[in-house]
Amino acid sequence: MSDFDLIIVGSGPAGSAAAVTAAKAGLSVALIDKAAFPRDKLCGGLFTGRSEKAMRAIFGREVNDELFVTSNHMRFLAKGRVLADIPNAPPVHLTMRRDFDAMLHAEALKAGAVPYLGTPITELGNNTLLLRDGSKLGFKAMIGADGVNSFVARSLFGRPFDPETIGFGLEIETPLTASRDSAVEVDFDAASWGYGWAFPKRKTVTVGVGGINSRNVDMKANMAAYVSQTGSDPSLRYKGQYLPFGDYKKHPGREHILLAGDAAGLVDPITGEGIALAMESGHHAACAVIEALAADQPQTALPRYLKLVKPIHRSLDQAKMWRMIMFPKATEGYFKKAFERGSSLQMKYLELLAGEAEYADLRGALLRRIPKLGWRLIKHRLGFRGPT
Ligand SMILES: Cc1cc2nc3c(=O)[nH]c(=O)nc-3n(C[C@H](O)[C@H](O)[C@H](O)COP(=O)(O)OP(=O)(O)OC[C@H]3O[C@@H](n4cnc5c(N)ncnc54)[C@H](O)[C@@H]3O)c2cc1C
Repeated sequence: MSDFDLIIVGSGPAGSAAAVTAAKAGLSVALIDKAAFPRDKLCGGLFTGRSEKAMRAIFGREVNDELFVTSNHMRFLAKGRVLADIPNAPPVHLTMRRDFDAMLHAEALKAGAVPYLGTPITELGNNTLLLRDGSKLGFKAMIGADGVNSFVARSLFGRPFDPETIGFGLEIETPLTASRDSAVEVDFDAASWGYGWAFPKRKTVTVGVGGINSRNVDMKANMAAYVSQTGSDPSLRYKGQYLPFGDYKKHPGREHILLAGDAAGLVDPITGEGIALAMESGHHAACAVIEALAADQPQTALPRYLKLVKPIHRSLDQAKMWRMIMFPKATEGYFKKAFERGSSLQMKYLELLAGEAEYADLRGALLRRIPKLGWRLIKHRLGFRGPT
């Protein structure tokens, strides 16, 4: 049996961030993934300013032309009707996860993590685990960064996520045509409690819809309508995956076994952004393990991690509050109108995507609207359908 200070399961953005952090601090680290790299991961690949900051801080890497395209052009729609076309928005980047994740994984190995690839974890004990190929590994601490269907979360809590609150997304990758402009498109009406997206990359456009699964009776029908609206090839087969839409785990782990990224439920409930939170939480989980092992108290890793990850939890709570205004039937029309008028809401949303603002910064814009929103809710409750 091989023994390690830290074993990380999953080498997506969360696992690779944890591995880089821990290996650079001198821990012996095993990095397990059921896939070999490069591998595909269903994702829009929208890489916000927050992701850019996290990648720089944790991996020391900058956005470059090889892995990213950058766009200043944002277009917001409601069932195809343009609400706002903004050619000079703060920049956002777009990446293909196959290449991006392979780069992060390579950085983790460069830092000294020992790879165990192409074989999933099949059994988890208190200080040992088994891989399908028969390898048995020992650990002082471990991090489950094995995505939304996390085996580690299932081993700890009986299930990886709550089916009532989980999100679900469908995507196709369509060829980029010469007539397609560089606009990053978001359609607020393509799904309930979610949206549709068309994100142009170097050679393809990622077209998808996603939202809270239980609020969308037929996500495939939403996708078919959006594929038709965007003029995409209807014969392409949809790929689907769950995403934890703001439904984070209040206790992301147990004692010396921690969860990071999607396994901990860390995806923004409005934008669906998860790459930044995966890198940040992977880094925090590794920092908690480093501290706990230095104190010779591996079982204190969870309380240490909870302290570090609290700002992420707080920002997800704030985002969930915003979602209660953007998505319910009673107020979504108001939100779209405010957006269409080019109000401060629109600007704050753009700044949020660009990593120039956080949900806490949106509080002022929200407070100013509370009287009007309250009136809308009352009218909705009373069934009043008059002019607004
Ligand atoms: C349709 C869709 C669109 C999205 N679009 C965006 C977007 O545009 N921008 C954005 O920021 N976020 C987006 N997200 C969210 C984002 O993809 C995730 O939040 C992010 O990938 C989480 O990273 P992670 O490292 O936690 O998990 P993952 O990236 O899922 O990595 C988990 C790793 O664990 C491995 N693994 C899984 N099970 C096992 C096992 N049993 N044993 C060993 N290894 C295992 C997998 O092979 C994988 O490499 C989207 C998600 C979906 C579903």
